Amino acid sequence: MKYVDEFRDAEVGRRLVADIRRKSSRPARFMEFCGGHTVSIARHGIRQFLPPHIEMLSGPGCPVCVTANRDLDRAIALARMPGVTVACFGDMIRVPASRSSLQQVRAEGGDVRVVYSTQDALDIARRDPARPVVFIGIGFEATAPTVAASVLQAEQEGIGNYFVLSQHKLCPPVMRALLDSGEVRLDGIVCPGHVSAVIGTHPYEFIPRDYSIGCVVSGFEPLDILLCVDMLVDQVEDGKAEVAIAYRRGVRPEGNTVALGLMHRVFEECDASWRGMGTVPGSGLRLRPEYRRFDAEYKFEIDAAEPVEPKGCICGDILRGARTPLDCGLFRTACSPDHPVGPCMVSSEGSCAALYQYGGADGG
Ligand code: SF4
Repeated sequence: MKYVDEFRDAEVGRRLVADIRRKSSRPARFMEFCGGHTVSIARHGIRQFLPPHIEMLSGPGCPVCVTANRDLDRAIALARMPGVTVACFGDMIRVPASRSSLQQVRAEGGDVRVVYSTQDALDIARRDPARPVVFIGIGFEATAPTVAASVLQAEQEGIGNYFVLSQHKLCPPVMRALLDSGEVRLDGIVCPGHVSAVIGTHPYEFIPRDYSIGCVVSGFEPLDILLCVDMLVDQVEDGKAEVAIAYRRGVRPEGNTVALGLMHRVFEECDASWRGMGTVPGSGLRLRPEYRRFDAEYKFEIDAAEPVEPKGCICGDILRGARTPLDCGLFRTACSPDHPVGPCMVSSEGSCAALYQYGGADGG
């Protein structure tokens, strides 16, 4: 399959691993900021091929996982409202929030629909114009433009019963917050592939400039990730710090200006709450005032009780790279994909789910 098979070529992989092992002389810790990378690293056992002094840490790149309980609770409160339909992507429905989940609300009679795209949510709204349909907007810069497009389409078609609860988040501000905290020392960052396809590489320029570490955009196939690590090792060994791309077939420095234009037309930046990190200034997206009639925050009086965190779950620490799933006392005991305690065990991009499913040298 074009663009897949050639990035899984075992011989090229062996050469890259040999190159990394030959060049790498000093300890280095790299963080991947994308849940897709976390899964690929676990699935292909990338860690076991790297020298032991190279550490790969997972960061806050799983959109469902970083959604704070406070925000999940608001989605659940909406789903409990009589006469309201809530539409969301698949992972969202099973995530345990403070006291319930969207799945539980659906079992209790709430109208919660899993959709595969915003077009599906718009279709639901078109079919029943008397019923408000709220799409739960979760995701980073790779997702927000499609949600923006759905709002513009609703406006164009005069669909008055389609709303968005925007819980979108932006990657560069949380990268800065994480680096500012100084909690985890990093020597390089594996920048997200899909997000970078939209925003390009210019928004990462503050990383080498202000923190003196390199960052390389990676694709999702094993060779993409090995090439990215190889390029990061080069920077560490040469004492350089710069922004680079190891995913040229997907990412251009200027990003996707059409998608960015859509996103900025409909959304504006706002502060956002992240699981494990609290409020990060300018790291969220809300609907601009001119699209307020599509904003579920303004349409509905959402009343959710004070959030509570699942006892014993360390998802917040894992999302900051401060701990790993193996540090959690509930991993593989009380917490499993069938009985998830926290979001990192639910989401297909969650660190705990990835380690549970693929195990490996560090996961058993
Ligand atoms: Fe939370 Fe379960 Fe992961 Fe522990 S194993 S951090 S309880 S999701």
